[in-house]
Amino acid sequence: MTSASEYTVINPATEEPVRTVPEASAEEADAAIARARAAQRAWREVAPGDRAALLRAFAAAVEAHAGELADLEVANSGHPVTAAAWEAGQVRDVLQYYAAAPERLCGRQIPVAGGLDVTFAEPIGVVGLIVPWNFPMPILSWGMAPALAAGNAVVAKPAEMTPLTALRIAEIAAEAGLPEGVLQVLPGKGSVVGQRLVDHPDVGKIVFTGSTEVGQQIMAGCARHIKRLTLELGGKSANIVFADADLEKAAATAPYAVFDNAGQDCCARSRILVQRRAFDRFMELFEPAVKGVRVGDPRSERTEMGPLISAAHRAHVQSYVPDGAPVAFRGSAPSGPGYWFPPTVLAPVSFDAPAYREEIFGPVVTVTPFEDEAEAIEIANDTPYGLSGSIWTRDVGRAIRVARAVETGNLSVNSHSSVRYWTPFGGFKKSGLGRELGPDALDAFTETKNVFISTQD
Ligand code: NAD
Repeated sequence: MTSASEYTVINPATEEPVRTVPEASAEEADAAIARARAAQRAWREVAPGDRAALLRAFAAAVEAHAGELADLEVANSGHPVTAAAWEAGQVRDVLQYYAAAPERLCGRQIPVAGGLDVTFAEPIGVVGLIVPWNFPMPILSWGMAPALAAGNAVVAKPAEMTPLTALRIAEIAAEAGLPEGVLQVLPGKGSVVGQRLVDHPDVGKIVFTGSTEVGQQIMAGCARHIKRLTLELGGKSANIVFADADLEKAAATAPYAVFDNAGQDCCARSRILVQRRAFDRFMELFEPAVKGVRVGDPRSERTEMGPLISAAHRAHVQSYVPDGAPVAFRGSAPSGPGYWFPPTVLAPVSFDAPAYREEIFGPVVTVTPFEDEAEAIEIANDTPYGLSGSIWTRDVGRAIRVARAVETGNLSVNSHSSVRYWTPFGGFKKSGLGRELGPDALDAFTETKNVFISTQD
C-alpha cells in the first residue's frame, strides 16, 4: 500500500520512536473496502472444511510467531512481556475456537405445511473492526476470528498509537494462506479510516471497541445505513467485598483487578466497595498488596505493571489526582523516561467526585464503605456503565442474589476472572451493545435467512 503520510509509533516505556507507520487516507480505505468486497464473494464460497483448515493454519502461524508478537506489543504498548505473551496466545486461541465454526454453522428445519422450511446463517459481507489501543491483539481477534469463520471479509483499523501487532498479524495471515483481501489492516485516524468504515455503504457491520463517546457517534453513523453494530465501550466496575469474605484473598487480588495493564482495562474494578465493619481490616491488608505491585521495565518477566500509553493519557489520569486529592496510599513507579504512574488508592471519595464517577483508564482506584447488601447493590448500580465486576462473600445465597442484581455483563464471585474466549463478553447500559466471544458470537456476524420450498405439485 502506498500512503501519502506516515507517523511515528512511540515506545511508552522509553519515549523512543519504534517505527514509522503509513497513515491510510479515506481513498485508501475505499480501495480496501472494494478489495474486501470482491474477496468476500470468493471467501464465502470456500468449502466449510477448507475455511476451517485455513483458520487453523492461521492460528498455528500466530503460535509460531507468538514470541515476536509479544515483543512487538511490549515495544509498542508497554505491556509487561508475560501479559503480552498471554495476549498473543489469546489470538491463537480465539482463532482456534472459531476455526471449529464453519462446519457447524447449521441452520434449522422448521415444520410447516405444504413444504420445507429451512434457515441459513449467511455472512454479512464486509465487516469493519475498529480497535482501541489498550488490548490491540485480543480485541482484534475477538472480532476478526468469528467474522472470518462466518464467511465475511474483514477490514480492521487499529488504534493510531498501537498498530504494530495488527499489521504483523495480517502478514502472518497471508503467510498462512488466507486469500488476499479477506483480512486487511489499515492504520490511520479514527476520524478518517474509522469514519469511512462507518459511512461506506459496502461495509455491512461495524465492531467497535473504544470510548462510550465515540461509540455513540458510531451508532448514529451506522443508523443511516441500518448497519449492523457491536459496541464494547467503557466501564466503571465495582469490586464488592462483604465482611464475611476471605479478606486476605480479596485484598491480595484487588490490585490486579484494577492495576493490570496500568488500569487501561475496560473491565478494571476501579471502585472497591467494602462492607463498613470490614473496611479498616481490608485497608490494612490492601496497602501492602498495592505497594507490592511490581511496576517497571515491561521487558522483564518480573514486571506486573508497565507505563501508561502516552504523555497525554498520563496527564488525563493525573487530572483525577490533583494536589490535595484524598490519596490513602500509593505504590511505586520508575522515574525518568516513560509515561509512568504509580498505583494510587483514593479514600474517602465523595459519590460526586469525578474520580469516583468517571472511567479514569489508569491505575487509580477508589475505596468506599457500604452498610448492607441492599446498599452495596444500589451503589454498584449507580453508574451509567455495566461491564464487569466482582463479588467477595462466603455466603452462596448472597453471592447469587448480588450477581443477579448487579447490572453488568460479566461478574466474578470470589475471583477476578479475565475474559474467557469461550464465554460471552459485553456490557449492559452504556458499556455496550451485543456480545462478543462464546458460542453465540457467530450470530453477530451472520444474517438469518429463512427459505420455504413448496412441495406442492
Ligand atoms: P477511542 O474511542 O478514542 O478510540 C477507539 C478506536 O476508535 C480507535 O481505533 C480510534 O482511532 C477510533 N475512532 C476514533 N474516532 C472515530 C470516529 N469518529 N469514527 C470511527 N472510529 C473512530 O478509545 P480508546 O481511547 O482507543 O480506548 C479506550 C476506551 O475503550 C475506553 O473507554 C475503554 O473502556 C474502551 N474499551 C472497551 C472495551 C470493551 O470490551 N468494552 C475493551 C477495551 C477498551
